[in-house]
Amino acid sequence: MRVVANSATCAVSSLCVYRLPGVFDQDEEGLVLVLDEHPDTGLHEEVRRAVRACPTNSIRVVENG
Ligand code: SF4
Repeated sequence: MRVVANSATCAVSSLCVYRLPGVFDQDEEGLVLVLDEHPDTGLHEEVRRAVRACPTNSIRVVENG
């Protein structure tokens, strides 16, 4: 799995950062950053949940990436 984020559409809701602080972070403006593009297998389901929960569809995963 590879995690991809689009900070241009991020609404600074912080939801993904609260869910997965080891995978997502925010820059000084609060916009999403990906800390870990290839999270451990045990986190994949939580990453998928974060993708579904993002209000602006600003994060996605490439399953075979
Ligand atoms: S959940 Fe979406 S809108 Fe909220 S901080 Fe993460 S990427 Fe941005």
